[in-house]
Amino acid sequence: MDAHTLLTDIFRLTAPQKAALKKLGIATVHDLLWHFPTRYDEGGSETSVSALSLGMDATIIGVLEKLETKKSWKRRVPVSEGYVRDATGRIKCMWFNQPYIAKMWQDGTRVKATGKVTGGEGKLYLANPHLERAGAAESGLFEQVGSEPKSYQLEAKSSLFAVYPESAGVTSLWMRHAIAKLLATDIPAHIEDPIPAHILSTYHLPNIHDALIYAHTPRSHKDALAARKRFAFEEVFFIQLERQRTRALEARERSFVIDTPREDVDDFIGTFGFSLTSAQGRAIDTILADMQKGAPMSRLLEGDVGSGKTAVAASAAFAVVSQRPEGQRSGALQVAYMAPTEILAKQHFESFIHLFDDHPMPIGLITGSGCYKFPSKVARDKATKISRAQLLKWVANGEIGIVIGTHALIQESVQFKHLALVIIDEQHRFGTSQRRTLARKEARLPHLLSMTATPIPRTLALTVYGDLDLAILDEMPQGRKPIMTEVVEPKKREAAYARMREQLQAGRQAYVICPRIDEPDPEKAFAIQAKSVKEEAKRLKKDVFPEFQIDIVHSKMTPAEKDSVMKRFAEHEIDILVATSVVEVGVNVPNATVMMIEGAERFGLAQLHQLRGRIVRSAHQAYCFVVAESRGERTRARLKALTTAKNGFELAELDLRERGAGELRGGRQWGISDIGMEALENLKLVEAARREAIAIIKKDESLSSFPSLALALSQRAASFHFE
Ligand code: ADP
Ligand code: MG
Repeated sequence: MDAHTLLTDIFRLTAPQKAALKKLGIATVHDLLWHFPTRYDEGGSETSVSALSLGMDATIIGVLEKLETKKSWKRRVPVSEGYVRDATGRIKCMWFNQPYIAKMWQDGTRVKATGKVTGGEGKLYLANPHLERAGAAESGLFEQVGSEPKSYQLEAKSSLFAVYPESAGVTSLWMRHAIAKLLATDIPAHIEDPIPAHILSTYHLPNIHDALIYAHTPRSHKDALAARKRFAFEEVFFIQLERQRTRALEARERSFVIDTPREDVDDFIGTFGFSLTSAQGRAIDTILADMQKGAPMSRLLEGDVGSGKTAVAASAAFAVVSQRPEGQRSGALQVAYMAPTEILAKQHFESFIHLFDDHPMPIGLITGSGCYKFPSKVARDKATKISRAQLLKWVANGEIGIVIGTHALIQESVQFKHLALVIIDEQHRFGTSQRRTLARKEARLPHLLSMTATPIPRTLALTVYGDLDLAILDEMPQGRKPIMTEVVEPKKREAAYARMREQLQAGRQAYVICPRIDEPDPEKAFAIQAKSVKEEAKRLKKDVFPEFQIDIVHSKMTPAEKDSVMKRFAEHEIDILVATSVVEVGVNVPNATVMMIEGAERFGLAQLHQLRGRIVRSAHQAYCFVVAESRGERTRARLKALTTAKNGFELAELDLRERGAGELRGGRQWGISDIGMEALENLKLVEAARREAIAIIKKDESLSSFPSLALALSQRAASFHFE
C-alpha cells in the first residue's frame, strides 16, 4: 500500500461516496491526503455529561455504548446512534447519513466526542460528533474512579479539528475519519518530499510528513498554518517549475524572424485615425523587438477594457503578414487570432477589416456558425460568407494571412502554411500549449501574444503567467471620458434615478445590476435580502420608470431567450436592462452608458470594475451608480476606491488585501487549488517560489537530479489532463 493505492482498495465505499469522491477528483491515497480542510473548528470545552446544555459546543471523554445503525423514519436517511458515558451520565450521539460510524467504532472504546449539543423531543443529543480515540494518558475530567466521580476544577481544554468542504455524498466527518486512518498507517512516512531540503530549511517549511499531519490533525492553529503555508508554497512552486521549464524549452526553439521595416508599421498605424497612446507605442516597440530575435516571443499584454489592445494586436499582425516566408517570392506569413466567444471573434474580425482599410489583406473568420472572408470577390469592401472547406483550403495554401476565430481554430482541422503569430484574447488557461497545437507540423514555433483585461493581483499574474513576459497598457486613449462613478446611499437613490432619467431621455440606455435572480426566500424573511432581477424590474416599471421599456436577462434563461433580449437591447427596443452580474453581457451596446449596481458590497472591486467596463463603449459620458445596502463606514470606504483607483489591477490588489484570496476563488479557472490560492496573499512567498524554480531549471532543466520533484510534476500534469 502506498500513496498511489486506490481508495476503493482500502475503504468500503458506498455508491454515493464513490460518486462524490470522483466529483472531487479524489481517487488515490495521495489525492485524499492532498484534500485540505477549509478551516479548523475549536472543539469546545471539555465538560461532563451532567453539565451539558442545549446549544453548547462540547467535548466529552467517555466510553462508547450501544452503537447501532438505524433508518430514520422521518427523513429516510441512515443514522448511526450510540451513547458516550462518563462518570456523570450518558449522552446520546446521532450521526445522520453516516451509517459507517457504527461499524467503524466499537462499544467500549474510550473516546473524545466533540459536537454541538442539540435538542430533540425534550432530550439532548450530540449531533454528528467528531470522535477521536482517547489515549490512555488522557484522563477525562470526569473519569470514574471506584464508584465516586473524581471532582476536578473545570479547566477548559480545547482541541482543533479539521472541517472539509462538504459535498453531497461525503461529509466532513467521513473525510476526517478516512484521513486519520491513512495518517495512522506508514504511508505518509514513505512519501518522498518533492521539495528539496535546502528550500524547506531556507523558508522554514515543515517537511512533507509533518505537514500532512499538521494540516489534517493540528494541535494548534500555528501548526495548521505552517502546514498550509508549505502546501501553498508547494503548489505555486510546482506551477512555476512547469512554466519555467516551458520557457526554457521554448527559448531554444526557432521562430520566424520578423523584420518588417519600422516605417512600414508606422505607415500602417498612421491610417488608424487616432494617435497611439504612449503605452500602446511602447507595447508595439517591445513586441516588434521580441519578434525580430528569431526566438519565439511569449508575451502577455495586460490592459483595462478600452485601453486599445486591438490596435496593438493589429500592428503586430501587420508586421507579420507583411513578411514573405523565408526564401520565397510570394505568399505571406500567417496570423491566428483566438477569441473566447463567437461575438467577440466577429467584433475582432470587423475591427481588423477596418484597421486594415488602407492596407488590404485577406482576413478570414472561422466560428461554429459559419465562415467569412474579406475582401469579397465581388465587393472589395465587404466580407462574404464562404464554406468552411473553402476557407480551410485558403488557409492551408497560405492565401489568407489573418485568421480570426473561437477555439474552433484549434479544435478543427485548421492547417496553416506558415503560421508565425498566435494572438489569444482573454483565455487565461490557453497559451503556450495552444500555440503548440496550432503550430502542428511547423518546424518553427509561432510567436505568442496573449491579451487580458481581467484584473488580477500581481501574485496571481506572476504565478499563472510565469512563462510570459509582460507588457502593460496603463493609459487610456486621449479624449476618452472617464466613467463618472458615484457611491450612492440607499436613501439618495431618488437623486440617482433622476440623473438616470436625464440620460434615458437624451436617448441613452441603462443597465441595472442586481445580485440575485429570484423572488425573496420567505424562509429568510428577516435576513437582509439582496435585490433580485425579477422583483427590481417590476418595481422599476411600476414605481420609477413607467415611461421606459424594461426587460431582464439572467443566467437561468435559455441561450435563445438571452440572445433575443440582447438583440432587442442592442436595437434599442429596450431602454433599461435589469441583469445579474454573471450573465454575459458580452454584446457591445455603445449606446448603453448608464449602470446602476445594487447590493454592490456583495461584489469584489475588480468585478465591479469589469461590470462598469460595459458602459465605456462610446464617446458619450458614462455614469455608474454604485448602491450599497449596508450603511457601514468600511463598506463605503472600500467602494470609494472605485472612484479613485487608476485601473482594474489596482482594485484587484485591494480586493486581495481586504477580502483575501477567497475573493479570487470560484471555479478553477486558473488551474490552482484553494490552498494554492492562499499563497497569493503573500507576495514574498510567491516570489520565493518563482526564484527557486528559476534557479532549479537553470541548473537542471530535466530535473534529473530531483527525481521526486520530476515525478510530482508529471503526476500533476497528468491529473490536470484528466480534468
Ligand atoms: P481593448 O481591447 O483593450 O478593450 P479596444 O482595442 O477594443 O480596447 O479599443 C477600444 C476603442 O478605443 C476602439 O474603438 C479603438 O478603436 C479605440 N482606440 C484604441 N486606441 C486608441 C487611441 N490611441 N486613441 C483613440 N482611440 C483608440
Ligand atoms: Mg479587446
